[in-house]
Amino acid sequence: MHVIIGGCRGTHPVAQPGYMRYGGETTSYLVEGAAGERVIVDAGTGVRALGARLQKQHGPRRVHLLLTHYHLDHTMGLPALGLLYDRRWTVTMAAPSRGRHVVRDVMPRLLHAPFWPLQVEDMGAAVRYRNLPRTCGTHPLRIGALRVRWCPVQHPGGCTAYRLEEGPKAVVVATDVEWARSTPAAQGALAALCREPTPARVLIMDGQYSRGTYAAHAGWGHSTWEECVALARATGVRRLLITHHAPDQTDRALDRLARQVARAWPDATLARTGERVRVA
Ligand SMILES: [Zn+2]
Ligand SMILES: [Zn+2]
Repeated sequence: MHVIIGGCRGTHPVAQPGYMRYGGETTSYLVEGAAGERVIVDAGTGVRALGARLQKQHGPRRVHLLLTHYHLDHTMGLPALGLLYDRRWTVTMAAPSRGRHVVRDVMPRLLHAPFWPLQVEDMGAAVRYRNLPRTCGTHPLRIGALRVRWCPVQHPGGCTAYRLEEGPKAVVVATDVEWARSTPAAQGALAALCREPTPARVLIMDGQYSRGTYAAHAGWGHSTWEECVALARATGVRRLLITHHAPDQTDRALDRLARQVARAWPDATLARTGERVRVA
């Protein structure tokens, strides 16, 4: 199993020189299983390149799209997902319902008139929806040989962290989450997702802020990279990728941050668009 990072920028995309090494596309991650399973987490603008990659591959034309939440930086790439225009593909969108917001209602709305010329049902692909319970409990979602577990995390309007497992190997995607404002129960649930039944090999977590910058943004829904390192260490995670980079952070600023992060924990790096991470 491996993960391809289609986008790791938070809040909104950036497309200008000085930002392209870490990348300007917003959140989208592709998890590919050994047996050809494909799961995309989030449909930020990074989903465009991930979809194009899948269209070039052989194998079953099926993909699951798991949504952490519906904020635009995590969904605005949907109209650019080429698979949706290809009638040979089946796209299953899945997310826990959140109040009255159900995946079957929310996602097609991004393409409703007057926002887009085609509606989901006219685009070509077979689109299915899966409404997940708020937490998976003891019933993971099975996608081929992959198991998916999840739990709610603290973020304005709510958000979901996912764990994708292939045998004993697992990757946890936890974006967006505000650790400091999480209840002890919510912190415990995310820690358990990272640690159980085996410590995740890879954790991809929202560390948009640092200890110094967090206070000015408390309540905005994001964690500090120091909190990501502490959680990864406490739960036995092998490798940490910090994500949801602020849109005003240039490559040079992120290089400086990456050096600080590496000094704190050598197994932590900042995510980069296009990076391929083995979950081993
Ligand atoms: Zn976000
Ligand atoms: Zn958000």
